[in-house]
Amino acid sequence: GSLTVAELAEKLNKDSSEIIKKLMSLGVMATKNQDLDADSIELICGEFNVEVEEEVVVDETDLDVYINEEDAPENLQIRPSVVTIMGHVDHGKTTLLDTIRKTKVTEGEAGGITQHIGAYQVEENGKPITFLDTPGHAAFTSMRSRGAQVTDIAIIVVAADDGVMPQTVEAINHAKAAEVPIIVAVNKMDKEGANPDRVKQELMEYELVPEEFGGETIFVHLSAVKGEGIDDLLEMIVLVSEVEEFKANPNRAATGTVIEAQLDKGRGSVATLLVQNGTLNVGDSLVVGNTFGRVRAMVNDIGRRVKTAPPSTPVEITGLSDVPEAGDRFVVFEDEKKARSVGEARQQRKIVENRGDNTKVSLDDLFEQIKQGEMKEINVIIKADVQGSAEALASSLQQIDVEGVKVKIIHKGAGAVTESDVILASASNAIVVGFNVRPEPNAKRTAETEKVDIRLHRIIYKVMEEIEAAMKGMLDPEF
Ligand code: GDP
Repeated sequence: GSLTVAELAEKLNKDSSEIIKKLMSLGVMATKNQDLDADSIELICGEFNVEVEEEVVVDETDLDVYINEEDAPENLQIRPSVVTIMGHVDHGKTTLLDTIRKTKVTEGEAGGITQHIGAYQVEENGKPITFLDTPGHAAFTSMRSRGAQVTDIAIIVVAADDGVMPQTVEAINHAKAAEVPIIVAVNKMDKEGANPDRVKQELMEYELVPEEFGGETIFVHLSAVKGEGIDDLLEMIVLVSEVEEFKANPNRAATGTVIEAQLDKGRGSVATLLVQNGTLNVGDSLVVGNTFGRVRAMVNDIGRRVKTAPPSTPVEITGLSDVPEAGDRFVVFEDEKKARSVGEARQQRKIVENRGDNTKVSLDDLFEQIKQGEMKEINVIIKADVQGSAEALASSLQQIDVEGVKVKIIHKGAGAVTESDVILASASNAIVVGFNVRPEPNAKRTAETEKVDIRLHRIIYKVMEEIEAAMKGMLDPEF
């Protein structure tokens, strides 16, 4: 990994000139924007009494190493699916989540009280299903942009009296970009203006075709307020899970993702973890994002203390030294010392963050990635002033083909470039094209931190020219 002189200076809270002077005294001539290699970074940090040796050389601090460790097929067992509910505002996502919980979680068996810990589990015909309690695609995709894929199945809620709306389309495209199976829940069937056929017609345009029209998408009719159709929905989730065969190895040290976390006055750092592989136990030593600790106590979604949490189980834990962030991954280490050293190394790595693994695409480096055979499709998000222009631009871009590399439109729509577009782009390594529109201020800010390329244009021909040029490695350097 590397940092420029200016970036290192910023991390160390020094002036670039001080770093350049130090480098000169070590016999290295450098400019502000020069990239420094790991050795030089280490030397400079040493000069300023900042310890970095470990975090620069020990890539064991990278939790992905443990998370991606493969399990032998014979150790894998079926695990419950993890479901996220998405859709347009006011179409009934929250009501649906509440109704499922109320009708399916048997409260009070042993004094359990339903707790909102960010996720819950219900059973349908003896088969558990885990629901993430934060509806909407913003949470879904911001986790994904941080490398955490927690959702197995997306439920897209569409109100039968309102039909497909802009956020419905966004939700569909977010789910498609994540390549998760989609079940459509046509909600508010109890309302007078309910027109499920119109919803089905409208969704055909997004390749969600019901079986009755020769497609494969599962549609369920619901009334979330009346609790009608809930069992059908849960049965369909079980059906999809059985087809997909989601699996994990319960007999290993746990790994997973933080669903939510906060500081509690009495209990300290409290975090809801979703166990994705292995089994989490009270007493386990773990690294969570940039913090670490031991599981002191573990509480499930009905407020009951539990000692173990198998795959796909959400549990709230205490015992971490600091508050992690939603989307942070966790890894349990057999040995407490190891957890501590990896945890501390990760904490310190925040000081000298490795800039190296920036995998986001920009038009400037597109050609390099195409040349190296790393890219067969270029993901593009289009936002335009009117839907018609977005469509026209999308079909024009899809006709570009440079040496077998094609443009794939992962989302298109009318309106300004929003933060949600940028987060989707970040999660999908996509470029955002704004056609006769501008990015919203927070979209612009997020694009900078997430290193997402937003290209603004007013003429379709120019967009095509620019993307084609980038694919051929002939991008005008003035861009
Ligand atoms: P969200 O924004 O998608 O989470 O939508 P909410 O769950 O907050 O629901 C928005 C409004 O629609 C609320 O007033 C709900 O009571 C109402 N609503 C939700 N589901 C139904 C339904 O099945 N039938 C009817 N008639 N109203 C519903």
